[in-house]
Amino acid sequence: MRDRSADICPLQDGIVYSARTGHRPFTCAPLEEYEPIVGQTAIDRLRRVASDVEGLSLLELNSSAKGGGVAEMLFSSIPMLDTLGLEIEWKTINGSPQYFEATKTLHNLLQGKRGAFTPAMEDVYVHSIEQCASLRYNDDHDVVLVHDPQPFGLAHYLKSDGQSWLWRCHIDIDEETIQRNPRLWEFMARWSDGYDGAIFSAAHYVVARWPMPKFIIPPFIDPLSEKNRELTDDEVRAVLDKYGIDRQIPIIAQVSRFDPWKGLDRTIESFRLARKSTRCQLVIAGGLAADDPEGGRILNKILNSTSDDEDIHVLNLPLDDRLTNWREINALQRAASVIMSPSTREGFGLVITEGLWKGKPVIGADVGAIPLQIRNGVTGFFYGGAGNTAKRLESLLANPAFGRKVGERGREFVRQHFLLPDRVADYLSAIRMAHRGALASSTCDDCIVSFHPWFKLSKRGRG
Ligand code: UDP
Repeated sequence: MRDRSADICPLQDGIVYSARTGHRPFTCAPLEEYEPIVGQTAIDRLRRVASDVEGLSLLELNSSAKGGGVAEMLFSSIPMLDTLGLEIEWKTINGSPQYFEATKTLHNLLQGKRGAFTPAMEDVYVHSIEQCASLRYNDDHDVVLVHDPQPFGLAHYLKSDGQSWLWRCHIDIDEETIQRNPRLWEFMARWSDGYDGAIFSAAHYVVARWPMPKFIIPPFIDPLSEKNRELTDDEVRAVLDKYGIDRQIPIIAQVSRFDPWKGLDRTIESFRLARKSTRCQLVIAGGLAADDPEGGRILNKILNSTSDDEDIHVLNLPLDDRLTNWREINALQRAASVIMSPSTREGFGLVITEGLWKGKPVIGADVGAIPLQIRNGVTGFFYGGAGNTAKRLESLLANPAFGRKVGERGREFVRQHFLLPDRVADYLSAIRMAHRGALASSTCDDCIVSFHPWFKLSKRGRG
């Protein structure tokens, strides 16, 4: 186990990790250990781009060190950037429950939910951002990377001369939706002026009309983290025993935040239909992220609707002990015969990548970036309504060899496209371009740079 501390709490000033003050509560594997997985060429590329940005100090800003895909990636990429010699810092911003209610609404609206970002929510947002700004989160870093809408407004207040600010959008954002909602568009435009670039997870999320260079970089997982490393049978068994899950009955699992977009009701319905003809059990496992006030409400709804069903295990996994949480997720994914993730909107499902990396057949949905992660029928499957999905579950449970074959193809696809050393190299390249002038925002407002051969990820690509 590499991390020194399992429980990562931001310090009072929001610092989660700081190379400059020597606060390094977690680490990642040495670079050489990734070489057998991703190959020497990928490692060489990472070292090369890191030397191009040598001496830069970077700050990553987000709103939670617990739960969700953003924190997941930062836990690995930050120590890796530190190892490569960059002066890296990670801070989380703080806010009131009302602020997180407002930012969750903003998140949902950007993902296409109908509704309004009310003047009262705007006030809460502005007030909180101004309070955060007064804490001067950015100090004197050369480059600041801001994740998702929560800290988005900070560039407007904190950006200083010579600094570059990049916005990293992880959500299933839809430019047409924002444009149809002029108030939302205006609100986002008001804060985007401080940015020198934006990074999106997939080509179809790029908000082309924003006047700044845009980069496309898919999210990644760390194959050597506690979440994804190989586990022994004993380790898997210990987790199943802890939660009273019978090892003899095939498991269908969904790991996700308790969130309205994650398709949990689709999973439950499909499972109940499949169970009529096939012995199986369902495990729904998630945690409550600190910046997601909707989680508790959804969890209660699911608990109420499944409490009399002994084949459904709903696990609200504690997030306090991060490494235990990660090992438990890892074990549940490895114990599963099929992994479900039929979201109705999805910026990019890290849980899908995690399931595929474990060689499992994953049932996602034809939305957001999932079609870039899953080739339907080749590296996984799409949700096709509860009835069809139940049939799919039945056939995968009846024919495990077929499931393994699909899962193995999925794993190889992840190895090629969604692992950490290569995607971190993409980040550094984007930073170099935005900060070192190759793509000055004044002259490259319309530029869209993809570090990835997107044709390989398009629905019709050959992988
Ligand atoms: N996750 C976790 N513990 C939990 C539930 C989820 O570590 O109890 C992780 C999960 O393994 C994945 C991330 O949180 O790495 C969720 O990322 P994803 O992109 O799938 O969804 P998001 O929550 O960011 O919308």
